[in-house]
Amino acid sequence: MPENIVTTFLTDNKPGLNCKAEHGLSMLIEADEKILFDSGQSRLFIDNATRLNIDLKKVEKVVLSHGHYDHGNGLVFLRNKELICHSACFTRRYRQKNKSYIGLAFNEKQARSKFNLTLSDKPLAISPTITFLATVPRINGFEAKTSPFLHEDGSSDYVIDDSGLVIETIAGLIIISGCAHSGICNIIEHARRITGQKKIRAIMGGFHLKADDPAVLPTIKFFKTLGPTKFWPCHCVDEEVLELLHNELDCESVHTGKAISFSG
Ligand SMILES: [Zn+2]
Ligand SMILES: [Zn+2]
Repeated sequence: MPENIVTTFLTDNKPGLNCKAEHGLSMLIEADEKILFDSGQSRLFIDNATRLNIDLKKVEKVVLSHGHYDHGNGLVFLRNKELICHSACFTRRYRQKNKSYIGLAFNEKQARSKFNLTLSDKPLAISPTITFLATVPRINGFEAKTSPFLHEDGSSDYVIDDSGLVIETIAGLIIISGCAHSGICNIIEHARRITGQKKIRAIMGGFHLKADDPAVLPTIKFFKTLGPTKFWPCHCVDEEVLELLHNELDCESVHTGKAISFSG
């Protein structure tokens, strides 16, 4: 088990400390391996890392949660690292409402030319304690039932590549999600299944909960079954939902520059 685990928000929708913000997510995960999880949509994650005296040159592994611009386009500013993601990340995809492009700015071939690319649709151990969740089975009856996105052929895009990370600690699982298009509760259950550990210590990242989403109340109900768990919802959670989560659960707010420490 690692001595200490630190997760730092390099990109988020809310600014903090002396860092800037954008719509997107990027986090540095420091445990028994250093991992950059997502890169936001611009080079902001690099600029914020510089402001925080974080040297990204020392990070060799990058995990992309899913193939949306606000999580992956910052990768344009990196190279020569190992990039781990789901094989469906490079899908060309669009918003249903205005048909605007929402996928990555680069294709698989371009990614291979810059990175040592590992595609995995099955859970992949990145270190003794950190696992890439890969495809998240969509099992419960209230999440990921509709999608506001389209494939190039006009069919619905359910973002099957949407994934996250789990870190195993003695005090329970730490789960990190990108946008949770697969459903944050589905992600939690998947992390439990693949690690064989039930106890959830912390959940952080995008939960993709919009104010009018019928999944909001069932999600809070599910969260309450987890026992003592700490939540750091951010990025793609509407203000109204954030308020509700903070009122109902043990939540802490997130902003760029925020670092969270855990003992291993
Ligand atoms: Zn997304
Ligand atoms: Zn997002």
